Amino acid sequence: MSIAAPQPQPQNSADRDAHPGGTVTDRLVEANRQYAHTFTDPGMDARPVQRVAVVACMDARLDLHQALGLELGDCHTIRNAGGVVTDDVIRSLTISQRALGTRSVVLIHHTGCGLLNLTEDFRHDLEDEVGQRPSWAVEAFKDLDGDVRQSMQRVRTSPFLLHTDDVRGFVFDVKTGLLREIEPRS
Ligand SMILES: [Zn+2]
Repeated sequence: MSIAAPQPQPQNSADRDAHPGGTVTDRLVEANRQYAHTFTDPGMDARPVQRVAVVACMDARLDLHQALGLELGDCHTIRNAGGVVTDDVIRSLTISQRALGTRSVVLIHHTGCGLLNLTEDFRHDLEDEVGQRPSWAVEAFKDLDGDVRQSMQRVRTSPFLLHTDDVRGFVFDVKTGLLREIEPRS
């Protein structure tokens, strides 16, 4: 059994197909040329101005900078499927805090997350299909709030981080654009 996802239909495919024959990456490269044309070097260094790291799901409907009123240079954004606090997220947070001066952590999951419909069967089916067991866990979850709490707990208990006093978790509602804060496990 293949576990490949069905292809979504773009809503404005006519607009996006301005370069027939070009791939999506070709369109991105062209967009970058236009971006660079008006870009001016803001002269910042690599340390985020707001001293905050945001860990969020990779979901295409979540525009972190718009949703949180962030400007270029304000924050680190660390994203993966689910916004799960994996070892690699801890790696990034550790570098963010120890080398680049951030001290607050914001965790964002969201409604309608693709991981809500998955189970660890995904991993087993993958192994059946390709003949190799992935070294990573899917980290699927059924309870959004519970998973945000677990993510907060993983950050707060990490021995590698310098700052674990300002760690807050939220669920972003993809229908309303609003964040709902999740109280940590007491
Ligand atoms: Zn998601």
